[in-house]
Amino acid sequence: MSPVSIHIHCPNCDYTEEYTQPRISCPACGETNLDAQYKTENGKLPWPEALANRPRSMWRYKELLPLRDPSHIVSMGEGATPLIHCENLGAMLGLKHLYVKDERQGPTGSFKDRQASLAISALKELGVNEMVVASTGNVAIAYSAYAARSGVKLWVFTISSVPVEKMREVTLYGTELVKVTGTYDQAKVVADRFAHSKGLFLDRGVKSIAAKESMKTLAFEIAEQLGEIYGPTKPDVPWRTPHWYIQAVSGGLGPVGVLKGFRELEQFGLSEGVPKVAGIQSSGCDPMVRAFHNNLEDAPPILQPKTRIATVATGSPGLAYKLLRHEMLEHGGTFESVSDDDAYRALKTVAQLEGISVEPATALAFAGLFKMARARMFDPDEIVVVNCSGHTFPVEKHILGSDIGQEMDVSSAAQAEIPTEGLLSALEEVDTRVGQVVVIEDDEGASTLMARILQAHGVQHVHQAFDGQSGIDLVNQVHPDLIILDLMMPNIDGFGVLDRLKADETLRNVPVVVVTAKDLTNDERSRLSGQVQSLLSKGSFIDDTILQDLLNEKLR
Ligand SMILES: *Cc1c(COP(=O)(O)O)cnc(C)c1O
Ligand SMILES: [Zn+2]
Repeated sequence: MSPVSIHIHCPNCDYTEEYTQPRISCPACGETNLDAQYKTENGKLPWPEALANRPRSMWRYKELLPLRDPSHIVSMGEGATPLIHCENLGAMLGLKHLYVKDERQGPTGSFKDRQASLAISALKELGVNEMVVASTGNVAIAYSAYAARSGVKLWVFTISSVPVEKMREVTLYGTELVKVTGTYDQAKVVADRFAHSKGLFLDRGVKSIAAKESMKTLAFEIAEQLGEIYGPTKPDVPWRTPHWYIQAVSGGLGPVGVLKGFRELEQFGLSEGVPKVAGIQSSGCDPMVRAFHNNLEDAPPILQPKTRIATVATGSPGLAYKLLRHEMLEHGGTFESVSDDDAYRALKTVAQLEGISVEPATALAFAGLFKMARARMFDPDEIVVVNCSGHTFPVEKHILGSDIGQEMDVSSAAQAEIPTEGLLSALEEVDTRVGQVVVIEDDEGASTLMARILQAHGVQHVHQAFDGQSGIDLVNQVHPDLIILDLMMPNIDGFGVLDRLKADETLRNVPVVVVTAKDLTNDERSRLSGQVQSLLSKGSFIDDTILQDLLNEKLR
């Protein structure tokens, strides 16, 4: 069948053996961090040609996955997720090539489906039928589903801060769930003891071969998809590596596997180089960020994580940090932290601008993206891929509360024949969003984007004018609560519009936010000073906190 030979290699003592089973440790020295290595006789894979007719799942890439017999595959179509171009967010951040790898679309709604599919398949092959895993939520759900499907009995050890909706899903699949009161690192120790005492197989996360290997398929898919979008890297290199890979990290397994994936693509001549990785953590549990910025080889553990986002509450990152730091020092990349509140805000922005609803852990990655864009860490032409790692269906109540939506009782309408008039005015009352905003901007795309952002922030009517004169006419007509004004426009420019507004008594006090594409001269700045509420630069992130504050202040 496949001409690929798979070996297990120990990076500690160089022990190598042909792959026959997923070993837990090196038979020679006991090292638990083992790697799978792949070779073919001519140094080539039958890709991309052979992929065309395979089913859409991560198992399309079976040559580089450690399983001997494909009949052991436990699959529900995991992987093969879309790479979605985010034009609105990209325009806000000044990134033309911003993509989301939409892992929400996996069978259980997170990228842990890849790991579960490979790990459970490999255990089936090994003849294991009962196992133990510690998890902060998504591994528990994914493993539960795949274990149920393949008849493996699963024990999950988790922490009490995991949302109850997630726990319910775990038990629905028939998993034995143990909630440990303590930190995730403590739960891992308890799971280890339990597995040991019962003689059960313990899945070791980042240290397990299956886990790391499964995450490679993210790299394979991203490179293949970018090759389709942008064309081959070179005539004989069909796929493409992005410049950045951004992910919220807990144990750090995802990026470790993704980097290994890009390495292997390079080995087989399918793509070139590895992306810069940005690992985003919550500031309440950011051991990797602290260690990285203090230039430490090892990350001292955070003993009492203070984040409400249980998915990423690994206080003791261990090995993954070392591996990732090494890569970052060599190829670029960074660890950054953002607050839980930053994540919740980003969650709403992404939902309202792109229609993509993510879980709070995933929102950390977006908040990190925003932070890095503000700090100008990206070149505008770089290809940036964000791992949209999990869906929001179990979204925590503290983000939106339970008092959502409005009640409207029309049950009596049929009999009582409410006059249409009354119904219309009742409908009018349902619309409690705020105010009128006029956007004066000659670039239609930019104008539409701003209109969307404003609507996402609860503005009721956004009126658009595409040059200075019609802007002034429109303002006279609707008397808005806020004006968003571009400076560079044909006929009357932004300065001219401002002069006319300030000369008109009825319009003088309408707040104006100036949006500009260029750096202003001192002279221009002083012309604006005292005349405008705020100055935002186009192409960089239209800061949603500034906007939110303005809208709250001026319109409510
Ligand atoms: C597991 C998980 C993470 C963290 O991934 P690691 O690579 O293991 O650090 C982030 N987001 C979501 C939604 C996850 O399920
Ligand atoms: Zn060894």
